[in-house]
Amino acid sequence: MGASIEVRDLHKEYHLGKVSVPVLRGVSFDVAPGEIVAIMGPSGSGKSTLLNLIGGLDEPTSGRLVVGDHSVPELGERERARYRRDEVGFVFQSFNLIQSLTALQNVELPLMFSGVPAKKRQAHAAELLARVGLDDRSGHMPPELSGGEQQRVAIARAMAAGPRLILADEPTGNLDTPNGLKILELLREMNRDESLTVLLSTHDANVAGLADRIITVRDGMLWGDPS
Ligand code: ADP
Ligand code: MG
Repeated sequence: MGASIEVRDLHKEYHLGKVSVPVLRGVSFDVAPGEIVAIMGPSGSGKSTLLNLIGGLDEPTSGRLVVGDHSVPELGERERARYRRDEVGFVFQSFNLIQSLTALQNVELPLMFSGVPAKKRQAHAAELLARVGLDDRSGHMPPELSGGEQQRVAIARAMAAGPRLILADEPTGNLDTPNGLKILELLREMNRDESLTVLLSTHDANVAGLADRIITVRDGMLWGDPS
């Protein structure tokens, strides 16, 4: 079952020396369990900041942020690490695969961190690679894969620990349109099969068009009606 997301009057300021830079200025929206929502907005509008806050990679200055039954800003350090490991799957624009590991080993990595024994995690990783259509590439190193294939490995890795939420920051940003749309279809498939919640950012209206709903961020605020 996917996680719900509740964001209320969320603020984030960065401090550069004595200067404080407001990046999110009171953002509020909800995502229902199992929804796939696209965040659009120009470069610098705060999309990555928002995803990082929801993923517990960074802390808000103020506001309410609840994912499933976790109030993310209130999690202690160990709970936050567990939240990131067990509840959230991250997908990034630049894939972020470990270059010295095979596709299969990259997918196995989160399972290793969760203490799953070798045989079991190899079998599960192989199954996930098959699901993203890469069973014949499991022994390849990332540089031997196309961008679209690398992103599919990254999605398999994001799914490995059985998350309730996928956060994908411009997952198609380094891909051409056909490959980008394939990645979105794959995210949709995961979203449907596991009723996973998916929140992604994108510049591409074609990509966003495949989401259930689009949220637009501009200058750190939501634009239009987010509901
Ligand atoms: P987007 O993903 O929509 O392009 P970001 O969330 O990356 O936008 O950035 C929003 C704003 O916050 C930008 O002006 C950026 O320069 C600023 N910003 C992002 N991260 C930091 C940081 N660690 N320190 C200072 N400013 C930052
Ligand atoms: Mg960004």
